[in-house]
Amino acid sequence: MLNALKPQAPDKILALMGMFRDDPRPGKIDLGVGVYKDAQGLTPVMRAVRAAEKRIWDNETTKTYTALAGEPAFHAAMADLVLGSDYPKDRLSALQTVGGTGACRMGFELARLANPGATVWTSDPTWPNHLSILDYLGMAHRPYRYFDAATRSVDFQAMLADLQGLKPGDVVLLHGCCHNPTGANLTTDQWLAIADLLAAKGALPLIDLAYQGFGDGLAEDAAGARLIASRLPEVFIAASCSKNFGIYRERTGCLLVLSDATDRAVTQGTLAWLNRQTYSFAPDHGARVVTTILTDPALRAEWEAELEQVRSGMLALRRQLADELRLLTNSDRFDFLARHRGMFSRLGATPEQVEQMRRDSAIYIVGDSRMNIAGLNNQSVPVLARAIVAAGV
Ligand code: PMP
Repeated sequence: MLNALKPQAPDKILALMGMFRDDPRPGKIDLGVGVYKDAQGLTPVMRAVRAAEKRIWDNETTKTYTALAGEPAFHAAMADLVLGSDYPKDRLSALQTVGGTGACRMGFELARLANPGATVWTSDPTWPNHLSILDYLGMAHRPYRYFDAATRSVDFQAMLADLQGLKPGDVVLLHGCCHNPTGANLTTDQWLAIADLLAAKGALPLIDLAYQGFGDGLAEDAAGARLIASRLPEVFIAASCSKNFGIYRERTGCLLVLSDATDRAVTQGTLAWLNRQTYSFAPDHGARVVTTILTDPALRAEWEAELEQVRSGMLALRRQLADELRLLTNSDRFDFLARHRGMFSRLGATPEQVEQMRRDSAIYIVGDSRMNIAGLNNQSVPVLARAIVAAGV
């Protein structure tokens, strides 16, 4: 029977990781996989996470099941982190999920249950897993133009023009901050215009918030999601704790859903039911760590301070790289690197130029020229800048 299976295309980023591992050249630079790395190339356990884990280890008396949708304390802590303290509590449903990927997946499934004919509109480009999950679910999806290859910023007029085609009940997938893979993000005015457009069209926003705290700050990175949440009757937010808490492998995420208050009970029940059909309970450990940190003022302050170091370190690398390229090219055409936010920037190199940088300089960048800025440090920035110029980008 299994001989009927067709091979799945290998994940390009994981394949690149394998090539990097096997490259014997000293000084090789990995800008591929989307994981935060410090100046030593390590992805450490954050101090507050360690402290929370110790506290849980000291105090936990049982490992019995929790609640199917996740614990109310986790929902409340995540809603507060994402939406701020004054969100409409009577309109909120929430689901603890397996990472941000699980939150996206459950968001798609909830939308499909409510409107089987919905088309999901995705930015061009977007995180490839969005598209492959939608394909797997058999959900219709359509790209909207987003990234202007010439300026490496958002082509907002094109985005608005494409979204004119929205039908009532369609879903618009938006990156809340730190767009993956481009690094180009909406301004506040643009978020406002999108909110107005979606309200006029009767479309439902699904905001993927996988990097809160990696761009301009915790509140700043949630500002677009908060603005949408304050203006639209129904909103989905898929929040990941993988990056901002550095707990990738704990698989921690949360789907927040705002609905009419009268639909809340059925929405919340449907979310719990979706977990039940898929894997019953989401894993507890990461969610418990997150709740412990967010509800303890000292741990929260420690976490916020470390996250701020991570964020400002990436910004400093962006500025250094833009400055180097300014000097080397005697132009400002790479200044977009300092304007982008988050871990990623799409450099705008051709696949051949990406390959040349790998071959000649042992620099590993994903084929669409998405670079993970966190893979750099002070010493490797000039190496990358010279390789970018040598490849003729
Ligand atoms: N959305 C986007 C845009 C991402 O980049 C990621 C992480 N690569 C995720 C969601 C989900 O991450 P995780 O499932 O590891 O929390």
